[in-house]
Amino acid sequence: MSSLLQTLASLAAAGSLLVSGALDMAAPQNSDTSMLLLVNRDWGISGDYAPVVRVSEVPGQVRKLREEAATAQEAMFAAAKAEARVTLVAVSGYRDYDKQERIYGNKLKSVRGDEEAADAYVARPGTSEHQTGLTMDIGQRSGKDTLEEGFGGTRGGQWCRDNAWRFGFILRYDEGWEEVTGYSFEPWHFRYVGLEHARRIHENEMPLEEYLKLLRTGILLDLVSADE
Ligand SMILES: [Zn+2]
Repeated sequence: MSSLLQTLASLAAAGSLLVSGALDMAAPQNSDTSMLLLVNRDWGISGDYAPVVRVSEVPGQVRKLREEAATAQEAMFAAAKAEARVTLVAVSGYRDYDKQERIYGNKLKSVRGDEEAADAYVARPGTSEHQTGLTMDIGQRSGKDTLEEGFGGTRGGQWCRDNAWRFGFILRYDEGWEEVTGYSFEPWHFRYVGLEHARRIHENEMPLEEYLKLLRTGILLDLVSADE
């Protein structure tokens, strides 16, 4: 067993994981408050999923996140300032289902009803990770590369890539992960998963989807060895 699987198995054994919602393909996720809630193009949540969020005390525009993520984000932005002298800004955090529906509807109109074209740009309502309240698009003050690939090459973008895990965030859509995540490289889109998971995901350089699969394998292996 690889050391990653070993640690995953022991994590599971310690009962420190609540991943049922994120791993049970058939179950609706609407009651899942897990930090590992999975939302992607194939795996949506309904309009009823509306987490409790608060305004994160950082510079920026749409700054609402779930409590755990907001607190972590405040610490992360303060650290970026202290360590890299960069002022990070919140560009877009929590978006509810209705908002996503309007954004998608507008995009659909602008491409004259061509769903394929609209899907290439905008997540359909219920498939945006921003609805979890655990996701924040990050930019930097006076940056020209807001929501553009160039952000990854800026001082702020680089600092976020290297350090977000220390605060429980992961770079969700890295280069080369498109097949797995369904999204091309988005150096600005960070997702909160909690400290322990973020550290492991960062160390192993894998998409959340792959990590969740490994977690499940680790749990299964653990059950098997418990039987022996
Ligand atoms: Zn985003």
